Amino acid sequence: MGFTRGVKNRSAIVIGAGVGGLSAAIYLARAGLKVRVYERAPRVGGKLREVDVDGKTFDAGPSVLTMKWVFDELFAGRFGEYVKLGTLEPLCRHFFPDGSVLDLFTDEERAADAIEKFSGAASARGYREYRKHAKKIFDVVREPFMENAIPHIVNFIHPRALTMLTQIDAMRTLHKALEEFFPDPRLRQLFGRYATYNGSSPYQAPATLSVIVHVENAFGIFTCEGGIYRLAEALERLARELGVEIITGAEVEEIVTETTRSTFSEESRAIGIRLRSGAVEKADAVLANCDVADVYERLLNHTKTGRKLARKYSDEERSLSAYVWLAVAEPPPFDILHHNVFFSTDYKHEFKQLFGDRTAPDDPTVYLNAQDRAGTPPSGPERMFFLSNAPALEQGGRSNIDWAHGQEVCRDRIVSVMARHGWQVKALKQKQITPLDLATQFPASRGSIYGLSLNAMTAAFKRPQNKIAGVRGLYLAGGSVHPGAGLPMVAMSARIASQLALTDLAG
Ligand SMILES: Cc1cc2nc3c(=O)[nH]c(=O)nc-3n(C[C@H](O)[C@H](O)[C@H](O)COP(=O)(O)OP(=O)(O)OC[C@H]3O[C@@H](n4cnc5c(N)ncnc54)[C@H](O)[C@@H]3O)c2cc1C
Repeated sequence: MGFTRGVKNRSAIVIGAGVGGLSAAIYLARAGLKVRVYERAPRVGGKLREVDVDGKTFDAGPSVLTMKWVFDELFAGRFGEYVKLGTLEPLCRHFFPDGSVLDLFTDEERAADAIEKFSGAASARGYREYRKHAKKIFDVVREPFMENAIPHIVNFIHPRALTMLTQIDAMRTLHKALEEFFPDPRLRQLFGRYATYNGSSPYQAPATLSVIVHVENAFGIFTCEGGIYRLAEALERLARELGVEIITGAEVEEIVTETTRSTFSEESRAIGIRLRSGAVEKADAVLANCDVADVYERLLNHTKTGRKLARKYSDEERSLSAYVWLAVAEPPPFDILHHNVFFSTDYKHEFKQLFGDRTAPDDPTVYLNAQDRAGTPPSGPERMFFLSNAPALEQGGRSNIDWAHGQEVCRDRIVSVMARHGWQVKALKQKQITPLDLATQFPASRGSIYGLSLNAMTAAFKRPQNKIAGVRGLYLAGGSVHPGAGLPMVAMSARIASQLALTDLAG
């Protein structure tokens, strides 16, 4: 980004040192700004975090790293010097309740061969066609939508809107689109699962989400030597090298604003922050990386705009949360990879429970990240990260699940799914993470991992933008705002938000 003119000696404050906050700090500092990051937790990384389980370190958040080019750009071509990356082939092993197993590969020929053996020639043909289809959607949305500030909803009344929505396959659900390509319901289940990368349902979210299938299957999944938390450390290191000051254990309680009123309007300008300690810090620009709901509900609660946005936002459907079981256990009596998925018997019912009944699925699909298997696994017990989807909390932190008891239920259900495949999991050390924990760690998020759900045709376009109309000098970056959640998307969000800030400051 070439915005160094006019911004030297200007300053910015970033609220939150998640991947979005650190990435934004890097972009802003590289452009010449003096940047301070305030993070409420004792360590940086946000959802990208490590936890200790009786002396064993687990990655407790993301495990799938895709779209490496986003980080290549962020690290100015030196990503490899900061993190030792590896690739995976096969990408993931999929286990079905009928005992069948399918591996997917980045290499299209290998994947199509595996699918042909698994489900026949028609499925392999469907897969090849689907890859082409997903690529086309990606090529359409990449530059104008993913890499830039949100196209305003008003665009939908443009005469080309319908053509555009058709091009990006937004007029039908992901599940509907998969019916066109895959005669085998197991493959519809497998590719439909990618909707959950955004915390959404394949039965409601638009087929545009095929872009997620594309980025993982065509460009691959990357591993970080020593665990994915090394990415957070690398971002922190680069930020500090660029002169960014990072203050941890510092919770921001208010975005300080100056308000100008005229007869017809009221406009605020962000001029700094107030910390929990009471201290006020000022800057020329403020960039919030915390959940956007926290900005609306708490940090801007003293403004009319904040209160209005909070009211509007609170009714919107949140994306999924998760139940995570970290266990040190003997490996199964069958082969697993680094990434594994064990599918449920009735996928539609699973999503009806998650989004309709808003409860934990009684027969969940389980993602297993065997954390010691990015390389050669050790002999004996290994670190197993099990995840099943769970609904986010409701307004006011309510839930249909009593999580004190519900976490044991979720764990037992995971144990049952594994037992169906012949693995009696016995944890030697363990820790459970529930939506309630996530809600506590990430204020106002209700434990939802990916902001609003994308369970509607135009939901992606209605996501909060990277700037708030009516509050100048305030920018938003992170998984709850445009263009979306997931590590690379969040870094892209930081790029867009920083670009907006730099343009305003230079203007
Ligand atoms: C269990 C789990 C599995 C996941 N799996 C994947 C995956 O495999 N691949 C993938 O790409 N993504 C995955 N994700 C999603 C990914 O982790 C997130 O999209 C991404 O890390 C979000 O980054 P962020 O910068 O938006 O925000 P966050 O990580 O939420 O960071 C926000 C930061 O702001 C801080 N903060 C909040 N409020 C304040 C305040 N008032 N004052 C100061 N600081 C504040 C928080 O403490 C936090 O550090 C997963 C997430 C979870 C939880």
